[in-house]
Amino acid sequence: MMQIRDKVELSEKVQAYRELHYKIGFVPTMGALHFGHLSLVRKSRAENQITIVSIFVNPTQFNDPNDLEKYPRMPEQDLEMLDAEGVDIVFMPDVETIYPDEKRNHFDLAGLDKPMEGKFRKGHFDGVADVVFRLFDIVKPDRAYFGEKDYQQLKIIQQMTKVAELPVEIISGEIIRESDGLAMSSRNIRLSEQERVAAANIYQIIRDFEPETFVEKPDKAEDIIAEKINKNEHLKTEYVSIVEDESMQTPKKLELDVTYRLCVAVWCGQVRLIDNLTFVITNNY
Ligand code: AMP
Repeated sequence: MMQIRDKVELSEKVQAYRELHYKIGFVPTMGALHFGHLSLVRKSRAENQITIVSIFVNPTQFNDPNDLEKYPRMPEQDLEMLDAEGVDIVFMPDVETIYPDEKRNHFDLAGLDKPMEGKFRKGHFDGVADVVFRLFDIVKPDRAYFGEKDYQQLKIIQQMTKVAELPVEIISGEIIRESDGLAMSSRNIRLSEQERVAAANIYQIIRDFEPETFVEKPDKAEDIIAEKINKNEHLKTEYVSIVEDESMQTPKKLELDVTYRLCVAVWCGQVRLIDNLTFVITNNY
């Protein structure tokens, strides 16, 4: 496995693979890797001749400096995991490599950046869209892999790729969970033992949601779910939102055969966790 920090060196390597007509799969990460990341790596390995993983904790997407400082970093362990997965190249740029000057790219995110994460983390998605654009520009992948764990981010990257007319196929991977249902996250290691137990409630509560009961009043469902989560002394919801899966718009009522997504952000102690699940109401219940 090659470890590359320099963007010119990376571009040259990619160009050489391209001349051999190899397909390039790319998995951008912020490190502190877990099986959620590795599931995307495996997908890329199955679909491309070359897999490149980036590890870059992107400062511009952190609205909270404390969160950036506390973000877990464990490069040695990450490299071992990626090597064992058969990754071809790990790209580990420093901040100056990605942001050589003060200029920032802005994209028309079609309002997808307004609700939920966008509302509570000001500027977050501008930072995400900019860094992914910059990474795509260096790596020039054929396919790039993103987890549904960060569902709104996935939609925003699809939108950025569309408006910037980039020839990259965006491929999504399902949410990988711990055995008690907690969505895997790099941030989970910051939870205390008690908080870790409490955190499992988030998925256990959203999983039990019965949308058929709330067809006329999805906003009521959001309140009830938030109330259930907040009953646990370690948990405090920031939002519980039901949105239409494609547009991320809030529905007034739930229609048959339309795909929706229930999304939550919950503080567990000092750690902010997000999760989501998708649902459709069909006629056969
Ligand atoms: P991060 O390192 O948190 O920026 O995540 C890098 C990529 O891994 C993103 O596309 C995430 O959506 C994805 N990811 C993170 N956690 C999970 C998970 N539990 N299941 C699937 N994908 C995940």
